[in-house]
Amino acid sequence: MSKGTPSMGKRQKRLHIKCRRCGRVSLNIHKKVCVACGFKKTTRMRSYKWQRKSGLNGD
Ligand SMILES: [Zn+2]
Repeated sequence: MSKGTPSMGKRQKRLHIKCRRCGRVSLNIHKKVCVACGFKKTTRMRSYKWQRKSGLNGD
């Protein structure tokens, strides 16, 4: 078992489809929840400050 590049070849299942709110392929087919923007989970856009580009604040 390895988590590196060789095991990526096994990931063939379609788990996420295109989200109509953020446009990313992050909408879970079964849960109908977008892991990128939080669609169906929250009315606001899912965002965290650690997502911001690093290096702007120095920390
Ligand atoms: Zn989304």
